[in-house]
Amino acid sequence: MIYRTPEYCRDFRCIAGECRDSCCKGWEIDIDEAAAERYRAVKGAFGERLRNSIKDGCFVLTEDERCPFLNKDGLCDIYTELGKESLCHICSEHPRYFEWFGTVKEGGTGLCCEASAQLILSRPFALCEEEVPFEEAAGEYDAELFDMLYEAREAMLQAVNDEDTPFADSLCSVLDIAEKAQSFIDMPVQREEAAADSDRAMQEIFRCFSELEPIDGNWIPYINECAGKLRGAPPAEREHIPYLRRIAAYFLFRYVMKSVYDGNVLGYAVFSVLSVIFTGQLFRCGAVERGKCGFAECADIAKNYSKETEYCEENMEKLLRLFETEPFFSVSTLKCIIRDTFVENADDI
Ligand code: SF4
Repeated sequence: MIYRTPEYCRDFRCIAGECRDSCCKGWEIDIDEAAAERYRAVKGAFGERLRNSIKDGCFVLTEDERCPFLNKDGLCDIYTELGKESLCHICSEHPRYFEWFGTVKEGGTGLCCEASAQLILSRPFALCEEEVPFEEAAGEYDAELFDMLYEAREAMLQAVNDEDTPFADSLCSVLDIAEKAQSFIDMPVQREEAAADSDRAMQEIFRCFSELEPIDGNWIPYINECAGKLRGAPPAEREHIPYLRRIAAYFLFRYVMKSVYDGNVLGYAVFSVLSVIFTGQLFRCGAVERGKCGFAECADIAKNYSKETEYCEENMEKLLRLFETEPFFSVSTLKCIIRDTFVENADDI
């Protein structure tokens, strides 16, 4: 089968002990049955420690929410004691993600990981393909729909990768392509009225994000603080636009083809564009205090955003539902926000 992935994934390396926001902290880690069986068979003191650290199929996190096997050097004791092949499925795959479509497999590394976020933001988006052994891991899908969605996603990726087109136009094109694709799947999309003004709509969007389930306790206070800074924040910086194009490509690549299973191409495109708008606003707020939001800070912001949205199933489901009902998530409102946020740079970008 064909495996399609962004080129940068070939260079992904976990930075382990140097990671400032290890994925072994703050998440519940489910242990798959095969790993649980291996752990039950481990002998000696380490086997005892393993068994005492597992409850209801998960590792029992410490008081500060660390995996009990994450040592003070930021390394994994299971990896060091038993080897890489002893890790449970989640730990051996993270931050990689995969999706299967018949004879095509797609995948990449998630934006929620510090090392991966830096890779994603640092390079222009390009895909590569290789032959891999066949794996069957997905349900039935409509091949004709797949082809149509694939073409639509290609057009969206081309739009966000085209640096000769003003960024606001690229994002609006993505929404236009998604609306057209959606109208092939079901009834023509009903265009909702634009909200009164894009500042108000942006405040509503910040409010909505602040009502999602937080993964990190600092996130909600942080975005509330940013909401308060938005009016006085400098316009989108020219140097942020390539990062935002790459974030757009990451989300479009990862999500648009999922709609072959649920038909929600517009929802995934809106999520991708909204992710760019929201992180772009956070980059602007980051510049308020320091006068500049540099590469490392932008990568950190994008990583935190990813953790709080796409890496929480409940939050993703809530957002996709809200896109269908809230006027501030309508395509026309998002276009107003895009034009107001990025248009000032249009001539330069
Ligand atoms: S977040 Fe990424 S870089 Fe950090 S420990 Fe996890 S996989 Fe490694």
